[in-house]
Amino acid sequence: MCALSLKGIISNENAKTLRSLKAPNINTLTTVRGIVVNSTRIVHKALRICVKCRNCEKIRFLEVQRGLGGSYLPRYCESVNMTGQQKEKCPLDPYIVLPEKSVIIDQQILKFQVLI
Ligand SMILES: [Zn+2]
Repeated sequence: MCALSLKGIISNENAKTLRSLKAPNINTLTTVRGIVVNSTRIVHKALRICVKCRNCEKIRFLEVQRGLGGSYLPRYCESVNMTGQQKEKCPLDPYIVLPEKSVIIDQQILKFQVLI
């Protein structure tokens, strides 16, 4: 449970120590006692990208791993007909991104000093 205020995010959770953080804590809201000493600007990161072939209009979803990694758009269209063969030759780099159907989050990296 957290609330967003003008001063920042306030949580009623018990603060964890930095050493107690484990993999399940990644990409979750976790409380750690400390002071933020540096922060990056907020960047938009896509978690699920919806792309459409501009030739055959086939829609495809690309999953992006959470964290700092990224993804590449496929260079070839994978449109196939019922027999498993490609209908028509789509050009190289056929995909366009449909941001309104994609899942995008805001991401920021905080560097903090742990309080003892
Ligand atoms: Zn296509």
